[in-house]
Amino acid sequence: MRRFPLCALALLATLALGACRGPAAVDRARLLAEAKGHEQWLTTGGDYGKTHYSGLAQIDRGSVARLGYAWGFDTNTDRGLEATPIVVDGVMYTSGVAGRVYALDAGSGRLIWRFEPHVDARVHRATCCDQVNRGVAVWQGKVYVAALDGVLYALDAASGRLLWRADTIIDHTRGYSSTGAPEVAGDVVVIGNAGGEFDTRGYITAYDLKTGRQAWRFFTAPGKPSPGKSGSTDAAADMAAARTWDPHSRWDVGGGGNVWDGMVYDPDLDLLYVATGNGEVYARRRRSPSGGDNLYLASVLAIRPGTGRLVWSYQETPGDEWDYDSAAPMVLATLGEGGRPRRVLMHAPKNGFFYVLDRATGALISAKPYVRTNWASGADPATGRMQPNPDADYSTGPKLILPSPVGGHVWNPMAFSPDTGLVYIPAIEGGGVIYAGADQGRRPGLVNVGVHMLLPSSVRDLTGLPAADVRRLSADGPDLGRQAFLRAWDPRARRTVWQVPTVGWWDHGGVLATRGGLVFQGSTDGHLRAYDDATGRLLKDIDTGSSIIAAPMSYAIGGVQYVAVMAAAGGGLWYVPHPENAAYTYGNLGRILVFRLDGGPTPKPPPLPPLEPMPAPPPSTAPAATVARGQALFAADCASCHVNLPRSASADLTRLSPAEHAAFDTVVLDGGLEPLGMPRWDDVLSRADADAIHAYLIKLSNEVYAARQGHRPPPRPAANAAG
Ligand code: CA
Repeated sequence: MRRFPLCALALLATLALGACRGPAAVDRARLLAEAKGHEQWLTTGGDYGKTHYSGLAQIDRGSVARLGYAWGFDTNTDRGLEATPIVVDGVMYTSGVAGRVYALDAGSGRLIWRFEPHVDARVHRATCCDQVNRGVAVWQGKVYVAALDGVLYALDAASGRLLWRADTIIDHTRGYSSTGAPEVAGDVVVIGNAGGEFDTRGYITAYDLKTGRQAWRFFTAPGKPSPGKSGSTDAAADMAAARTWDPHSRWDVGGGGNVWDGMVYDPDLDLLYVATGNGEVYARRRRSPSGGDNLYLASVLAIRPGTGRLVWSYQETPGDEWDYDSAAPMVLATLGEGGRPRRVLMHAPKNGFFYVLDRATGALISAKPYVRTNWASGADPATGRMQPNPDADYSTGPKLILPSPVGGHVWNPMAFSPDTGLVYIPAIEGGGVIYAGADQGRRPGLVNVGVHMLLPSSVRDLTGLPAADVRRLSADGPDLGRQAFLRAWDPRARRTVWQVPTVGWWDHGGVLATRGGLVFQGSTDGHLRAYDDATGRLLKDIDTGSSIIAAPMSYAIGGVQYVAVMAAAGGGLWYVPHPENAAYTYGNLGRILVFRLDGGPTPKPPPLPPLEPMPAPPPSTAPAATVARGQALFAADCASCHVNLPRSASADLTRLSPAEHAAFDTVVLDGGLEPLGMPRWDDVLSRADADAIHAYLIKLSNEVYAARQGHRPPPRPAANAAG
């Protein structure tokens, strides 16, 4: 149905070429020819190098004041939206909550087709950071997406019809999920998975683009050494990795190293670069008692897509024990280094160092902190190996670590402008306190980090730690402040050129740079802002009423440039309702928002109704020991979703009605709210466990209720960081 008008248009436009393209006509030649995405935006990062840069300049420093609303599309979901859309020949392809896919007319927003995968609710127990998806891949008439449960789908780009599906998960009883965009590399489409907070051994799998037949699988953590049984296409690389682990490592927990986001294919060198996540369990002395660098955790790997074999690797955080995922998106570019152009890979992972690597060899060109760091002194100039600071070992007591386990920069895409030579990073300053918890053995399919983490705003937040530790950590007081910035970083001079603060440390949306001299960034406060790429001066500010965390992108149709962004808060720490966020006032219904010059005013969602008065909770009568046991169970199994604050994304369990109290066991144990995404827990929790959790919540509800009656601030919820 789409094919004929598109074809006719393409025919008119390209008579000289004599070509007539079908939908989603993306291939190697076209990606190379339209390398800077002038009209199209062909990968999640725009081009082969995923620079998140648009060569369009109709919207520029002068005209951006006229930017206004062109069209919008409601996804009718209320979880985070993190994908950067792809636009090919006037059609937008993008993904939403849990791997839904939308194909839209990019000029009008008209829905062409949608795809909704069936996802088992049980996978929600295995997600640290919301039910998000970071995008699709589009290639030769097909759209590829990985759903939250790890099933990879190939869809017909014209109709959304299912062409093939592949279950990419090796063991569904473990805490695997999938949130990243698939990557097309040579003749295969590659997908990884998340689960580095659970009990998973990370890996990526490649599938034939046309048939979905598995081509190869590369494990990013070695697993228990067992000759001939590594499971990896590259058994030699697996053996090499195993030599950097204690033979008596906690193999049962899996090791982590998950590839949950950054992958980018390099057509010049025929290499697939893969960015790996944190180690698990977090504390290295528990994970690998005799130490070691624990390859390939927190690394960048270069893999030959035709064979699934490793060509080089560079580890950014040796022996990671700070949740320093290196999973952030990578940018490929050519930079003048040492008086000659070098093909480089640029990366700003959670560990706070900005890396420039030679992408042919993996040689380190530079590693400089782009935020405050104290876990490492830098890279050894002779070997390139990072030098962790002995003081960052928390096996002897709580340590304040910079950056915090939230990281200096995570998945939100950074952008590189070849015009300014600058990288625009959504950067997060600030530390976190981390200390080892009790070893409770492996908890199948559940969180297995084995440490506690605090994100202190002040010394007051350290209460509960031993007094000597509080005194020692208090001496670091000035480092406790946290704040996010849009930071313009010069990768050659290795310094910040300009920066602007965001509304808070949790606000670090993805970035778009353009040839119009602009840098665009959305905010959780609901504003889309455009800055001068050379100075950081704010040139345009549009209040959309929708919280934004995803990266904007740009495309053109018929000589009109558009800027588009997906809007809804979520992701890591997704459940915390900051009153500064637009979602707190307007709710969090997902939207795709598109702008052009001389567009109209942006329609805001209707404000939420005022909060209902808190219902009086039932009396708290359970013994203190039961309440304490319930609190511990809640912290282990419930607190990663339920923060118990008004207007958080998951139910505020201090505000249950009498009917909801009566149904508590039915919901927790029997799956009474499975259709709404609340999984059942009867395989983990006994009825006595559920009753203890309920007793704790009733006690907490009474404290909150009493505080509200007395206008005292309610008790602070425990901080929890994952991502
Ligand atoms: Ca992590």
